[in-house]
Amino acid sequence: MDHNKLAQLLFPHITKTAQQYREEIYPRRQLPEGAMVTRFAPSPTGFLHIGGVFTSLVNERCAHQTGGVLMLRIEDTDKKREQQDGISAILNGLDSFGIRFDEGVLKEGEQGAYGPYTQSHRAEVYQTFCKDLVERGLAYPCFCTEEELSEIRARQEKDKALPGYHGEYARCRDLTYEQIEENIKAGKPYVMRLRSPGRPGGRVKYKDVIKGQIEMDENIVDIVLLKSDGIPTYHFAHAVDDSLMGTTHVIRGDEWVSSVNIHLQLFQVLGMKPPKFAHVAPVMKEEDGGKRKLSKRKDPEAAVSYFTEEGYPADSVIEYLLTLANSTYEDWRRANRDLPYTEYKFRLDKMGQSGALFDLKKLRSVSAEVISRFDAQKVAALATAWAKEHDGQLYDCLAADPAYAEGLFAIDRGGKKPRKDIAKWSDVREYVSYFYDELFERSETLEMDPALQKQVLEQYLPVYDPADDRDTWFARMKTICPALGFASEVKEFKSAEPGTFKGHVGDVSAVVRMAVTGRKNTPDLCSVMALLGKERCEKRIRDYMETL
Ligand code: GLU
Repeated sequence: MDHNKLAQLLFPHITKTAQQYREEIYPRRQLPEGAMVTRFAPSPTGFLHIGGVFTSLVNERCAHQTGGVLMLRIEDTDKKREQQDGISAILNGLDSFGIRFDEGVLKEGEQGAYGPYTQSHRAEVYQTFCKDLVERGLAYPCFCTEEELSEIRARQEKDKALPGYHGEYARCRDLTYEQIEENIKAGKPYVMRLRSPGRPGGRVKYKDVIKGQIEMDENIVDIVLLKSDGIPTYHFAHAVDDSLMGTTHVIRGDEWVSSVNIHLQLFQVLGMKPPKFAHVAPVMKEEDGGKRKLSKRKDPEAAVSYFTEEGYPADSVIEYLLTLANSTYEDWRRANRDLPYTEYKFRLDKMGQSGALFDLKKLRSVSAEVISRFDAQKVAALATAWAKEHDGQLYDCLAADPAYAEGLFAIDRGGKKPRKDIAKWSDVREYVSYFYDELFERSETLEMDPALQKQVLEQYLPVYDPADDRDTWFARMKTICPALGFASEVKEFKSAEPGTFKGHVGDVSAVVRMAVTGRKNTPDLCSVMALLGKERCEKRIRDYMETL
């Protein structure tokens, strides 16, 4: 068979050559030694899974900490899965997590010299490489219909043979030029298949950066390279794109591990050096004592929109994902509280081989820690922005007086042991409620005789001075203790015979706290009262006394 003639029959419109693409259109990248070129390659389904953020973060860290390049490639070869606006939903999602791409389909438009970065715009490139394979006798058209393919499958089942189009089952493998020409003239649809050079019984080995040494059967299936519309399959597009784009490390979900034999073969027939592969295990969820993949259908937290809606700051999610990615991250963070995560030396080869457990409790605790280190201005700004979208009443409160909002978040912030009351912005309503009359409600009670509480407040009201600083405020609390039969010092209370005192100064302030805030636990009460102001504090105290 004259392969060149066949190539010309199949691809008359292709004028460039594979060599031109390899050498001129996509020249080798000039990057420093060790620089990693990675990519995140979502399909435009519009759904960004938290596992996708995890994988893109890993790609991002590898590229940027080595002075390399991070690309975003859109894999839209499966039109059935495509959603309208699917791309922008993914781009916005990644952007909200602060994952910045250097090349590819970016929010502000396409960027980079190795594009186009949307696979559906690259049909001519794939066809050129397929034509090249035809010229070298490594690809052929297959006219089998769906019925014929199911017939083959049925026969293979009966024969207990490896499924797929291969060997004796590959009917179109040896069609003559004339047969092919006739079929094409008759308008029969066809796909382009690889003439797999794999040997039955052959084995391939490769070293996965995460999973280690992997050995598998050589691929013998004549896989589809181009579908009948001339659009490539994932496998072919992956090999062509990652070769031309100079990807050094393909870091992707481990559902692709079992296809690496196909991919290595494709790089081989294309005459291109394969990248390194790193297969990331999926994010898991604990269920009934076992583990299963975090599921788009069953688990709301699988979608990144969950985190936005609950109000987890992007910083928290990233921080948590890093703890899942490398087990030494948490120790590093404890030793380096104030450094950005980008200072941590991420290790791809130290990622777990089995899926990390996504635990919302742990996320909450990581997030509370992250938020505890934000300054008040940032907390107020982010909480207000969240409330604007998700809690109108809270937004009205926070936005009415930004300085007041900042003031309340500033209480007990900073310092060595900051409070960790807020893990997500949806916690803010509860946290700030007593600072706003519109949100304030009393839900807790104090275990102290109401009549005694009333006496405490009767003593406190005349001495309360909103101008007091923290020390004076507390000293004043102490001054009313003796008349009430309370110890002015906790020590004094503890060393005295039981029954000597009704309580101590802490119990006195607990009553004031309950009166003013309706809570047993708040940040520094003196600061809270200063912010609330005299009028509001006195009114709250009086209202509370009425209830006693
Ligand atoms: N488009 C593929 C997917 O969504 C990406 C796999 C890869 O990164 O190569 O699974």
